[in-house]
Amino acid sequence: MTPLRSVEAGDALVEYRDQGPATEPPRDHLISVEKALARAVALARPISETELVPLAEASGRVLAEGARALGPLPSFDSAAMDGYAVRRVELIGAGPWQLPVVGRVAAGGLAPEAFSGAIRILTGAPVPAGFDAVVMQERVRRDGGVIRLDTIPPAGDNIRRAGEDLAAGAPILSAGALIGVRETAALAAAGIARPHVRRRVRIATLVTGDELLPAGDALGPGHIWDANGPMLAAAVVQPWIERRDFGRVHDDPITLTKALSEAASWADLVVTSGGVSVGDADHMGRALARTGGEVVVKQVAMKPGKPILIGRIGRSVHIGLPGTPLSAFVGWTLFGAPCVAALAGRPPCRRDIFVRAGFTFERRPGRCEFRPARRVGTDETGAQIVEPITERFTHSLAALAAADGLVILPADAKQILEGDLLRFLPL
Ligand code: AMP
Ligand code: MG
Repeated sequence: MTPLRSVEAGDALVEYRDQGPATEPPRDHLISVEKALARAVALARPISETELVPLAEASGRVLAEGARALGPLPSFDSAAMDGYAVRRVELIGAGPWQLPVVGRVAAGGLAPEAFSGAIRILTGAPVPAGFDAVVMQERVRRDGGVIRLDTIPPAGDNIRRAGEDLAAGAPILSAGALIGVRETAALAAAGIARPHVRRRVRIATLVTGDELLPAGDALGPGHIWDANGPMLAAAVVQPWIERRDFGRVHDDPITLTKALSEAASWADLVVTSGGVSVGDADHMGRALARTGGEVVVKQVAMKPGKPILIGRIGRSVHIGLPGTPLSAFVGWTLFGAPCVAALAGRPPCRRDIFVRAGFTFERRPGRCEFRPARRVGTDETGAQIVEPITERFTHSLAALAAADGLVILPADAKQILEGDLLRFLPL
Protein backbone atom coordinates (compact mmCIF):
# COMPACT_ATOMS: atom_id res chain seq x y z
CA MET A 1 0.00 0.00 0.00
CA THR A 2 1.34 3.43 -0.87
CA PRO A 3 1.76 5.73 2.12
CA LEU A 4 -0.58 8.62 2.79
CA ARG A 5 0.89 11.77 1.34
CA SER A 6 -0.62 14.28 3.66
CA VAL A 7 -1.97 13.91 7.14
CA GLU A 8 -2.54 16.71 9.59
CA ALA A 9 -4.12 16.78 13.02
CA GLY A 10 -7.61 18.22 13.09
CA ASP A 11 -10.87 17.56 11.39
CA ALA A 12 -11.53 14.83 8.90
CA LEU A 13 -8.85 15.82 6.46
CA VAL A 14 -9.09 14.25 3.07
CA GLU A 15 -6.00 12.22 2.63
CA TYR A 16 -4.87 11.27 -0.78
CA ARG A 17 -2.70 8.43 -1.91
CA ASP A 18 0.02 8.76 -4.43
CA GLN A 19 -1.31 7.28 -7.65
CA GLY A 20 2.05 6.95 -9.33
CA PRO A 21 3.80 9.44 -11.59
CA ALA A 22 1.56 12.29 -12.65
CA THR A 23 2.90 12.13 -16.17
CA GLU A 24 1.44 8.67 -16.67
CA PRO A 25 -1.42 9.18 -19.14
CA PRO A 26 -4.82 8.41 -17.67
CA ARG A 27 -5.99 5.02 -18.89
CA ASP A 28 -9.66 5.73 -18.49
CA HIS A 29 -10.96 9.26 -18.81
CA LEU A 30 -13.48 9.20 -15.98
CA ILE A 31 -11.57 8.97 -12.73
CA SER A 32 -12.48 9.43 -9.08
CA VAL A 33 -12.17 12.76 -7.28
CA GLU A 34 -9.40 11.33 -5.07
CA LYS A 35 -7.40 10.08 -8.03
CA ALA A 36 -7.80 13.38 -9.87
CA LEU A 37 -6.70 15.27 -6.76
CA ALA A 38 -3.62 13.07 -6.36
CA ARG A 39 -2.65 13.65 -10.00
CA ALA A 40 -3.23 17.39 -9.72
CA VAL A 41 -1.25 17.79 -6.53
CA ALA A 42 1.60 15.66 -7.87
CA LEU A 43 2.11 18.32 -10.56
CA ALA A 44 2.32 21.13 -8.02
CA ARG A 45 5.87 21.12 -6.69
CA PRO A 46 6.54 23.68 -3.93
CA ILE A 47 8.13 26.88 -5.19
CA SER A 48 11.82 26.79 -4.42
CA GLU A 49 12.59 30.52 -4.68
CA THR A 50 12.65 32.29 -1.35
CA GLU A 51 13.06 35.82 -0.09
CA LEU A 52 13.85 37.61 3.16
CA VAL A 53 11.09 39.99 4.16
CA PRO A 54 10.88 42.40 7.10
CA LEU A 55 8.78 40.87 9.86
CA ALA A 56 6.27 43.73 9.61
CA GLU A 57 5.52 42.62 6.02
CA ALA A 58 5.65 38.87 6.63
CA SER A 59 2.08 38.39 7.81
CA GLY A 60 0.26 36.01 5.47
CA ARG A 61 3.45 34.64 3.91
CA VAL A 62 4.67 31.04 4.11
CA LEU A 63 7.87 30.27 5.98
CA ALA A 64 10.43 28.70 3.63
CA GLU A 65 12.60 27.14 6.30
CA GLY A 66 12.16 26.33 9.96
CA ALA A 67 12.80 29.20 12.38
CA ARG A 68 15.00 28.62 15.44
CA ALA A 69 15.70 30.70 18.51
CA LEU A 70 18.82 32.80 17.97
CA GLY A 71 19.76 32.50 21.65
CA PRO A 72 18.23 31.22 24.89
CA LEU A 73 14.86 32.73 25.79
CA PRO A 74 14.70 34.53 28.11
CA SER A 75 18.34 35.44 27.63
CA PHE A 76 19.04 36.17 31.31
CA ASP A 77 17.60 35.28 34.74
CA SER A 78 14.86 37.80 35.43
CA ALA A 79 12.29 38.66 38.08
CA ALA A 80 8.78 37.28 37.47
CA MET A 81 7.28 39.61 40.10
CA ASP A 82 7.79 42.98 41.71
CA GLY A 83 9.58 42.36 45.01
CA TYR A 84 12.99 41.85 46.57
CA ALA A 85 15.87 39.65 45.43
CA VAL A 86 17.50 37.82 48.34
CA ARG A 87 20.28 35.31 49.01
CA ARG A 88 18.77 32.41 50.94
CA VAL A 89 22.07 31.67 52.72
CA GLU A 90 21.50 34.87 54.67
CA LEU A 91 18.23 33.62 56.12
CA ILE A 92 19.66 31.56 58.96
CA GLY A 93 18.39 30.85 62.44
CA ALA A 94 14.77 31.41 63.41
CA GLY A 95 12.70 34.01 61.55
CA PRO A 96 11.48 36.56 60.97
CA TRP A 97 14.53 37.86 59.15
CA GLN A 98 15.55 41.41 58.43
CA LEU A 99 17.67 42.51 55.47
CA PRO A 100 18.85 46.00 54.48
CA VAL A 101 17.78 47.13 51.00
CA VAL A 102 21.12 47.76 49.25
CA GLY A 103 20.07 48.51 45.67
CA ARG A 104 17.31 48.69 43.10
CA VAL A 105 16.86 47.39 39.55
CA ALA A 106 13.97 47.76 37.10
CA ALA A 107 13.32 46.11 33.68
CA GLY A 108 15.96 47.25 31.22
CA GLY A 109 18.39 48.16 34.04
CA LEU A 110 21.70 46.60 35.01
CA ALA A 111 21.74 44.22 37.97
CA PRO A 112 23.71 45.90 40.79
CA GLU A 113 26.67 43.99 42.15
CA ALA A 114 25.96 43.05 45.76
CA PHE A 115 27.01 40.31 48.17
CA SER A 116 24.45 40.65 50.92
CA GLY A 117 21.16 42.33 51.80
CA ALA A 118 18.09 42.63 49.58
CA ILE A 119 17.72 44.27 46.18
CA ARG A 120 14.48 46.02 45.27
CA ILE A 121 13.61 44.36 41.94
CA LEU A 122 10.79 44.92 39.43
CA THR A 123 9.23 42.46 36.95
CA GLY A 124 11.50 41.76 34.00
CA ALA A 125 14.66 43.10 35.69
CA PRO A 126 17.84 40.99 35.72
CA VAL A 127 18.41 39.09 38.96
CA PRO A 128 21.81 40.01 40.44
CA ALA A 129 24.39 37.20 40.45
CA GLY A 130 24.33 35.15 43.64
CA PHE A 131 20.71 36.07 44.51
CA ASP A 132 18.55 32.97 44.36
CA ALA A 133 14.97 34.03 45.08
CA VAL A 134 12.64 36.95 44.53
CA VAL A 135 10.17 37.53 47.36
CA MET A 136 6.91 39.13 46.24
CA GLN A 137 6.50 42.61 47.69
CA GLU A 138 3.17 41.53 49.21
CA ARG A 139 5.09 39.00 51.39
CA VAL A 140 7.43 41.58 52.83
CA ARG A 141 7.11 44.38 55.36
CA ARG A 142 9.30 47.32 54.50
CA ASP A 143 10.36 49.82 57.09
CA GLY A 144 12.60 52.55 55.70
CA GLY A 145 15.70 50.87 54.33
CA VAL A 146 14.96 47.44 55.80
CA ILE A 147 12.63 44.59 54.82
CA ARG A 148 11.27 41.92 57.10
CA LEU A 149 10.17 38.47 55.94
CA ASP A 150 8.50 35.67 57.84
CA THR A 151 9.19 32.65 55.64
CA ILE A 152 12.17 31.41 53.63
CA PRO A 153 11.33 31.44 49.90
CA PRO A 154 12.04 28.26 47.91
CA ALA A 155 15.18 28.34 45.78
CA GLY A 156 14.55 30.06 42.45
CA ASP A 157 11.19 31.46 43.59
CA ASN A 158 9.79 34.04 41.14
CA ILE A 159 12.86 33.88 38.92
CA ARG A 160 12.46 33.19 35.20
CA ARG A 161 15.58 31.27 34.29
CA ALA A 162 17.58 31.98 31.16
CA GLY A 163 16.57 29.46 28.47
CA GLU A 164 13.45 28.45 30.40
CA ASP A 165 11.13 29.11 27.42
CA LEU A 166 13.50 28.06 24.65
CA ALA A 167 17.07 26.84 24.53
CA ALA A 168 19.37 28.46 21.97
CA GLY A 169 18.65 26.87 18.58
CA ALA A 170 15.31 25.37 19.68
CA PRO A 171 12.76 25.14 16.85
CA ILE A 172 10.04 27.80 16.89
CA LEU A 173 8.15 27.23 13.63
CA SER A 174 8.45 24.67 10.85
CA ALA A 175 8.87 25.29 7.15
CA GLY A 176 5.44 25.70 5.58
CA ALA A 177 3.98 27.61 8.53
CA LEU A 178 1.65 30.40 7.49
CA ILE A 179 2.80 33.50 9.34
CA GLY A 180 -0.15 34.94 11.25
CA VAL A 181 -0.55 36.88 14.46
CA ARG A 182 0.85 34.19 16.78
CA GLU A 183 3.71 33.26 14.45
CA THR A 184 4.71 36.93 14.07
CA ALA A 185 4.84 37.32 17.84
CA ALA A 186 6.92 34.14 18.27
CA LEU A 187 9.38 35.24 15.57
CA ALA A 188 9.72 38.73 17.04
CA ALA A 189 10.25 37.39 20.57
CA ALA A 190 13.00 35.14 19.21
CA GLY A 191 14.75 38.09 17.57
CA ILE A 192 14.04 37.13 13.95
CA ALA A 193 13.75 40.41 12.06
CA ARG A 194 13.57 39.07 8.50
CA PRO A 195 12.06 35.62 8.13
CA HIS A 196 12.82 33.53 5.10
CA VAL A 197 9.58 33.08 3.13
CA ARG A 198 8.68 31.43 -0.15
CA ARG A 199 8.12 33.72 -3.06
CA ARG A 200 4.44 34.35 -3.75
CA VAL A 201 2.62 31.79 -5.88
CA ARG A 202 1.96 33.32 -9.30
CA ILE A 203 -1.51 32.61 -10.58
CA ALA A 204 -2.72 33.57 -14.04
CA THR A 205 -6.46 33.65 -14.56
CA LEU A 206 -8.32 33.79 -17.84
CA VAL A 207 -11.88 33.09 -18.89
CA THR A 208 -13.08 32.02 -22.32
CA GLY A 209 -16.33 32.54 -24.15
CA ASP A 210 -17.56 34.80 -26.94
CA GLU A 211 -20.72 35.37 -24.88
CA LEU A 212 -18.98 36.99 -21.92
CA LEU A 213 -19.16 40.65 -20.94
CA PRO A 214 -18.03 42.28 -17.72
CA ALA A 215 -20.72 42.59 -15.05
CA GLY A 216 -22.81 45.71 -15.57
CA ASP A 217 -22.16 46.12 -19.33
CA ALA A 218 -25.27 46.35 -21.51
CA LEU A 219 -26.02 42.83 -22.72
CA GLY A 220 -26.57 42.26 -26.44
CA PRO A 221 -28.35 39.17 -27.73
CA GLY A 222 -26.75 35.98 -26.43
CA HIS A 223 -24.46 37.78 -24.00
CA ILE A 224 -24.03 36.97 -20.32
CA TRP A 225 -22.06 38.60 -17.56
CA ASP A 226 -18.78 36.96 -16.67
CA ALA A 227 -19.13 35.36 -13.23
CA ASN A 228 -16.02 33.16 -13.23
CA GLY A 229 -13.43 35.90 -13.78
CA PRO A 230 -14.43 37.85 -10.66
CA MET A 231 -15.00 34.59 -8.75
CA LEU A 232 -11.48 33.30 -9.46
CA ALA A 233 -9.98 36.70 -8.70
CA ALA A 234 -11.73 36.69 -5.32
CA ALA A 235 -10.73 33.08 -4.63
CA VAL A 236 -7.02 33.85 -4.78
CA VAL A 237 -6.80 37.07 -2.77
CA GLN A 238 -4.08 36.08 -0.30
CA PRO A 239 -0.85 37.73 0.80
CA TRP A 240 1.04 34.65 -0.42
CA ILE A 241 -0.48 34.79 -3.92
CA GLU A 242 0.22 37.15 -6.80
CA ARG A 243 -2.40 37.13 -9.55
CA ARG A 244 -2.35 38.43 -13.09
CA ASP A 245 -5.46 38.66 -15.18
CA PHE A 246 -5.08 37.40 -18.74
CA GLY A 247 -8.54 38.60 -19.58
CA ARG A 248 -11.54 37.31 -21.45
CA VAL A 249 -10.43 35.29 -24.43
CA HIS A 250 -12.58 34.54 -27.46
CA ASP A 251 -13.44 31.01 -28.51
CA ASP A 252 -10.75 30.91 -31.12
CA PRO A 253 -8.01 28.28 -30.92
CA ILE A 254 -5.18 30.54 -32.09
CA THR A 255 -5.94 33.40 -29.70
CA LEU A 256 -6.44 30.91 -26.89
CA THR A 257 -3.16 29.11 -27.56
CA LYS A 258 -1.30 32.41 -27.50
CA ALA A 259 -2.97 33.52 -24.27
CA LEU A 260 -2.26 30.17 -22.59
CA SER A 261 1.42 30.29 -23.58
CA GLU A 262 1.83 33.83 -22.32
CA ALA A 263 0.09 33.01 -19.05
CA ALA A 264 2.21 29.88 -18.55
CA SER A 265 5.46 31.71 -19.21
CA TRP A 266 4.79 33.86 -16.14
CA ALA A 267 2.64 31.76 -13.80
CA ASP A 268 3.12 28.78 -11.51
CA LEU A 269 -0.55 27.99 -12.02
CA VAL A 270 -2.79 28.92 -14.94
CA VAL A 271 -6.50 28.74 -14.16
CA THR A 272 -8.95 29.00 -17.01
CA SER A 273 -12.69 28.67 -17.33
CA GLY A 274 -14.73 27.30 -20.18
CA GLY A 275 -14.13 25.31 -23.33
CA VAL A 276 -13.32 21.96 -21.73
CA SER A 277 -16.23 19.87 -23.02
CA VAL A 278 -16.64 18.27 -26.38
CA GLY A 279 -18.55 20.92 -28.37
CA ASP A 280 -16.91 22.42 -31.44
CA ALA A 281 -16.47 25.75 -29.65
CA ASP A 282 -14.57 24.00 -26.84
CA HIS A 283 -10.96 24.70 -27.72
CA MET A 284 -9.16 24.36 -24.41
CA GLY A 285 -7.92 20.80 -24.92
CA ARG A 286 -6.62 21.55 -28.43
CA ALA A 287 -5.04 24.84 -27.35
CA LEU A 288 -3.33 23.08 -24.47
CA ALA A 289 -1.95 20.46 -26.87
CA ARG A 290 -0.67 23.22 -29.19
CA THR A 291 1.26 24.82 -26.37
CA GLY A 292 3.07 21.49 -25.93
CA GLY A 293 1.28 20.93 -22.64
CA GLU A 294 0.15 17.62 -21.28
CA VAL A 295 -3.08 16.51 -19.66
CA VAL A 296 -3.33 14.23 -16.62
CA VAL A 297 -7.07 14.58 -15.91
CA LYS A 298 -9.89 15.04 -18.42
CA GLN A 299 -13.04 13.88 -16.72
CA VAL A 300 -13.84 13.26 -13.09
CA ALA A 301 -16.69 11.15 -11.70
CA MET A 302 -18.26 14.12 -9.97
CA LYS A 303 -21.30 16.33 -10.16
CA PRO A 304 -21.20 19.16 -11.00
CA GLY A 305 -18.13 19.61 -13.16
CA LYS A 306 -17.41 16.28 -14.83
CA PRO A 307 -15.26 17.66 -17.66
CA ILE A 308 -12.17 19.37 -16.23
CA LEU A 309 -8.68 19.61 -17.66
CA ILE A 310 -5.75 19.28 -15.32
CA GLY A 311 -2.27 19.23 -16.72
CA ARG A 312 0.77 21.32 -17.31
CA ILE A 313 2.15 23.80 -19.77
CA GLY A 314 5.92 23.94 -19.49
CA ARG A 315 6.63 24.38 -15.78
CA SER A 316 3.15 25.70 -14.94
CA VAL A 317 0.25 23.68 -13.69
CA HIS A 318 -2.91 24.22 -15.72
CA ILE A 319 -6.39 23.81 -14.26
CA GLY A 320 -9.01 24.12 -16.98
CA LEU A 321 -12.32 24.56 -15.17
CA PRO A 322 -15.65 24.12 -16.91
CA GLY A 323 -17.50 27.34 -17.74
CA THR A 324 -20.69 26.66 -15.81
CA PRO A 325 -20.02 28.78 -12.72
CA LEU A 326 -21.08 26.26 -10.05
CA SER A 327 -18.93 23.61 -11.76
CA ALA A 328 -16.05 26.06 -11.95
CA PHE A 329 -16.41 26.85 -8.27
CA VAL A 330 -16.50 23.20 -7.22
CA GLY A 331 -13.55 22.36 -9.51
CA TRP A 332 -11.54 25.23 -8.08
CA THR A 333 -12.38 24.20 -4.50
CA LEU A 334 -11.55 20.53 -5.03
CA PHE A 335 -8.47 20.78 -7.25
CA GLY A 336 -7.36 24.40 -7.66
CA ALA A 337 -7.12 25.35 -4.01
CA PRO A 338 -5.10 22.24 -3.01
CA CYS A 339 -2.72 22.82 -5.94
CA VAL A 340 -2.07 26.39 -4.83
CA ALA A 341 -1.46 25.16 -1.29
CA ALA A 342 1.02 22.57 -2.59
CA LEU A 343 2.81 25.20 -4.69
CA ALA A 344 3.09 27.38 -1.60
CA GLY A 345 4.56 24.50 0.41
CA ARG A 346 1.42 24.13 2.51
CA PRO A 347 -0.47 20.87 3.13
CA PRO A 348 -3.02 20.42 0.31
CA CYS A 349 -5.75 19.23 2.62
CA ARG A 350 -9.48 19.64 2.47
CA ARG A 351 -11.05 20.26 5.86
CA ASP A 352 -14.21 18.19 5.68
CA ILE A 353 -16.34 17.68 8.75
CA PHE A 354 -18.86 14.93 9.44
CA VAL A 355 -22.53 15.90 9.57
CA ARG A 356 -25.93 14.21 9.67
CA ALA A 357 -28.25 14.34 6.65
CA GLY A 358 -31.40 16.33 7.37
CA PHE A 359 -32.97 14.99 4.16
CA THR A 360 -33.77 11.83 2.23
CA PHE A 361 -32.79 11.41 -1.43
CA GLU A 362 -32.99 8.74 -4.06
CA ARG A 363 -30.11 9.09 -6.49
CA ARG A 364 -28.35 7.53 -9.42
CA PRO A 365 -24.99 6.16 -8.22
CA GLY A 366 -21.79 6.72 -10.21
CA ARG A 367 -20.63 10.25 -9.55
CA CYS A 368 -19.68 11.90 -6.27
CA GLU A 369 -21.94 14.90 -5.78
CA PHE A 370 -21.10 18.23 -4.19
CA ARG A 371 -24.26 20.09 -3.41
CA PRO A 372 -24.63 23.57 -1.92
CA ALA A 373 -26.08 23.07 1.57
CA ARG A 374 -26.31 24.66 4.95
CA ARG A 375 -26.12 23.62 8.55
CA VAL A 376 -29.55 24.03 10.10
CA GLY A 377 -29.05 22.79 13.67
CA THR A 378 -27.71 19.92 15.74
CA ASP A 379 -29.08 16.53 16.72
CA GLU A 380 -29.20 15.12 20.27
CA THR A 381 -25.53 14.03 20.07
CA GLY A 382 -24.37 17.51 19.08
CA ALA A 383 -23.68 16.54 15.43
CA GLN A 384 -24.57 19.24 12.92
CA ILE A 385 -27.54 18.61 10.63
CA VAL A 386 -27.28 19.67 7.00
CA GLU A 387 -29.92 20.41 4.38
CA PRO A 388 -29.42 21.18 0.71
CA ILE A 389 -30.36 24.69 -0.41
CA THR A 390 -32.66 23.39 -3.14
CA GLU A 391 -34.58 20.13 -3.41
CA ARG A 392 -33.40 19.39 -6.96
CA PHE A 393 -29.91 19.80 -8.29
CA THR A 394 -29.38 23.29 -9.69
CA HIS A 395 -26.50 25.25 -11.13
CA SER A 396 -27.78 28.42 -9.49
CA LEU A 397 -25.11 30.67 -8.07
CA ALA A 398 -27.72 32.16 -5.76
CA ALA A 399 -28.00 28.71 -4.13
CA LEU A 400 -24.23 28.62 -3.76
CA ALA A 401 -24.21 32.08 -2.23
CA ALA A 402 -26.91 31.01 0.25
CA ALA A 403 -24.94 27.89 1.26
CA ASP A 404 -22.39 27.61 4.02
CA GLY A 405 -20.79 24.52 2.57
CA LEU A 406 -21.00 21.65 0.11
CA VAL A 407 -22.56 18.41 1.29
CA ILE A 408 -20.83 15.43 -0.28
CA LEU A 409 -22.97 12.55 -1.53
CA PRO A 410 -20.78 9.48 -2.05
CA ALA A 411 -20.43 8.21 -5.63
CA ASP A 412 -21.84 4.76 -4.88
CA ALA A 413 -24.83 5.82 -2.72
CA LYS A 414 -28.23 4.87 -4.18
CA GLN A 415 -30.07 6.78 -1.52
CA ILE A 416 -29.33 9.10 1.34
CA LEU A 417 -31.52 8.65 4.41
CA GLU A 418 -32.22 11.28 7.00
CA GLY A 419 -29.67 10.82 9.79
CA ASP A 420 -26.95 9.34 7.54
CA LEU A 421 -23.42 10.41 8.33
CA LEU A 422 -22.06 12.51 5.45
CA ARG A 423 -19.00 14.57 4.74
CA PHE A 424 -19.46 18.31 4.49
CA LEU A 425 -16.99 20.82 3.14
CA PRO A 426 -17.47 24.13 4.97
CA LEU A 427 -17.04 27.20 2.76
P1 AMP B 1 -18.38 26.11 -21.45
O1 AMP B 1 -17.72 25.32 -20.39
O2 AMP B 1 -17.47 27.12 -22.07
O3 AMP B 1 -19.03 25.23 -22.46
O4 AMP B 1 -19.53 26.93 -20.74
C1 AMP B 1 -20.59 26.27 -20.11
C2 AMP B 1 -21.68 27.26 -19.73
O5 AMP B 1 -21.16 28.18 -18.78
C3 AMP B 1 -22.18 28.10 -20.88
O6 AMP B 1 -23.57 28.27 -20.69
C4 AMP B 1 -21.46 29.39 -20.72
O7 AMP B 1 -22.14 30.48 -21.26
C5 AMP B 1 -21.32 29.51 -19.23
N1 AMP B 1 -20.12 30.26 -18.89
C6 AMP B 1 -18.90 30.05 -19.40
N2 AMP B 1 -18.01 30.90 -18.88
C7 AMP B 1 -18.71 31.66 -18.00
C8 AMP B 1 -18.33 32.73 -17.16
N3 AMP B 1 -17.08 33.17 -17.12
N4 AMP B 1 -19.27 33.29 -16.39
C9 AMP B 1 -20.56 32.83 -16.41
N5 AMP B 1 -20.95 31.83 -17.19
C10 AMP B 1 -20.05 31.25 -18.00
MG1 MG C 1 -17.57 28.34 -23.68
